[in-house]
Amino acid sequence: MVNPDVASPGLSADTTVASVPGPLAGTRAPEPVADLTGMRRNDLAAALSRAGVPKSELDLRGTQIRTWIYRKGATSLNCAIGLPKALRARLGESCTIGRPEIARRQLSVDGTRKYLLRLGDGSLVETVYIPEPDRGTGTLCLSSQVGCTLTCRFCHTGTQRLVRNLTAAEIVGQLLVARDDLGDWNTLPGTGRRITNVVLMGMGEPLFNTDAVIRAMQVVRDHEGIAISRRKITLSTSGVVPEIARVGTEIGCMLAISLHATTDALRDRLIPINRKYPLAELLQACRDYPRLSNAERIIFEYVMLKGVNDSDDDARRLIALIDGIPAKVNLIPFNPWPGAEFECSDPDRLRRFGDIINRAGYSSPVRTPRGADILAACGQLRSDSLRRGRRTLRESPDSPMSGSLSRSEIHGRRDTSAVPTLNRS
Ligand code: SF4
Repeated sequence: MVNPDVASPGLSADTTVASVPGPLAGTRAPEPVADLTGMRRNDLAAALSRAGVPKSELDLRGTQIRTWIYRKGATSLNCAIGLPKALRARLGESCTIGRPEIARRQLSVDGTRKYLLRLGDGSLVETVYIPEPDRGTGTLCLSSQVGCTLTCRFCHTGTQRLVRNLTAAEIVGQLLVARDDLGDWNTLPGTGRRITNVVLMGMGEPLFNTDAVIRAMQVVRDHEGIAISRRKITLSTSGVVPEIARVGTEIGCMLAISLHATTDALRDRLIPINRKYPLAELLQACRDYPRLSNAERIIFEYVMLKGVNDSDDDARRLIALIDGIPAKVNLIPFNPWPGAEFECSDPDRLRRFGDIINRAGYSSPVRTPRGADILAACGQLRSDSLRRGRRTLRESPDSPMSGSLSRSEIHGRRDTSAVPTLNRS
């Protein structure tokens, strides 16, 4: 048995339930003025209707605009051949096609690309592209908030205060700007597309911004637009229990749970939201997740913290907790950042832990960290850039960053490392 008081030196239990922040503890996002990016079909139809498009033409014009924005990568409708000039002009007066700006980009030798993006109000968020080794495909990790209200102890983003929620347009915009950078336009799934999967595992707790996240993922799913299927979208939550069923119903995406502890005592300390929604409630919400089956298993993320949560007893308790849930356990070696109070479990401990889980019939891959040569922990690039101040943020988006490779080197490089890890540690 792990005694958390002994096994987690340096952790204090000073966060009370009342101090666990709620979803709107930060400032609300300013709603963009009619940003066409991030509009679902009905939202776009309403915008077109306001611009004077007759009802009989709404479907046609909507399809044309989705094609230009999400298939061809248009950043303005000026070039949108097929749309009447008068309509282009009217929309141009009242609508924008939003795109965050790349403030900084880091390229890892393993092909991982980390972007620091500047939003319209100057806020900074991170987005990470993780290519699949030798396949030409890849996963984009999106942020849902600027900073985070939660203070998960192993997470660098948890050291940053929440600035605000992202809008649906800003969430979708991260994908569009990554496609710009990757030259990933005019492609469909299965036809050489480089961003094939999306995970909401970046900065922020997506279920503290559920409405915008759902809207954004409905846009990402739309087969007339970005067309990434629901099973290629994974939402990771620290455990905002009341919102879990909703994403299953309204997005239909895969669910990942940042579990990381097998007792409430330890989880209360590692992930303070556990004080509001303890393990029993969280696991019940997992059991009730829509369409849960062996084909659509829940991913339990478990960051391996030396001497904290990595004993044999922890492994056995984990098995008991998830008993009966079609599941997979991702074991994530802790990725230390300056000031972190944890170390990663030793390789032997990690292996032994994984073996116990595996023998119980659960897949338990140990993920190989990606982007280890860049500021890979979630939130680290933003903190670093804020520290370095304005001079850094004025750097040209295309200027190579330290440790980075040129575009051609990156395009020619074949990734040989193992399956990506996506973690917030
Ligand atoms: S793990 Fe997620 S929810 Fe927890 S502090 Fe980090 S970004 Fe926030």
